[in-house]
Amino acid sequence: MSHIRSDEVVASALTASDSGMPDAENAEQHGVAVSTIRRWRRLYQRRGLARGQAHTRVPCPRCAQAALDEVAYAELLGWYLGDGHTSPSRGGVWNLHIYNDVRYVEPNAHLVDLMRRVKPGGRPHTRRVPGCIVTTVSWKHWLCLFPQHGAGRKHEREIRLEDWQRDVVARHPGDLLRGLFHSDGSRTANWARLKVAGVPKRYDYPRWEFVNRSDDILELCTWALDLCGVAWRRPRVNAIAVSRRTDVRRLDDLIGPKS
Ligand SMILES: [Zn+2]
Repeated sequence: MSHIRSDEVVASALTASDSGMPDAENAEQHGVAVSTIRRWRRLYQRRGLARGQAHTRVPCPRCAQAALDEVAYAELLGWYLGDGHTSPSRGGVWNLHIYNDVRYVEPNAHLVDLMRRVKPGGRPHTRRVPGCIVTTVSWKHWLCLFPQHGAGRKHEREIRLEDWQRDVVARHPGDLLRGLFHSDGSRTANWARLKVAGVPKRYDYPRWEFVNRSDDILELCTWALDLCGVAWRRPRVNAIAVSRRTDVRRLDDLIGPKS
């Protein structure tokens, strides 16, 4: 077996590696030893070549009919609508960024997982900005999946889901709610003083609130709540509240606690 491989084979193996293919599988696919794959990766890194992600190799659910993990997508859509955006990078590549409070360690790890499920083989990375973790992953196809990209802030433009996105949400409304409430929502303990048989008593009750400046996004939130049979109110122009005990419990079951 020759030890000299064509540049094409090397490039193909490195691209496969960048898209997350394990070394053993990569070696088998390219008919080389695992140690060769590792060596190529080391050389590649030493030469200082950008080891970007294989933006073109991960097939798109929209333009290449690749499978879409709808559960992960519905939730990621919620996070995106809550506090995410897309930004152009080089070569037609887009970055999807989701911001979340640095305190929420588990949800931030979960975001990485969600991104990996929506872009199989993707390599999300995180960075810290004051108070927040930004989780980012690059792909040529983010605009296929998040066509709500546009100039200006989300509350300053129309946010309308495409039909296929509405179909996904209609099948997985609880997952959209998880993304929405865990990004732009809060679960707070309220209390009230009530007199029972003339004796003042303090009652504690939890409530969920979703706050967003976009009417369109608030409407998506209430649509998903309706689909899940969770009653809501709109106590302020920019907020949706779920406060009835049975509804709070139902929402807890659907989206998990927020600590
Ligand atoms: Zn696409």
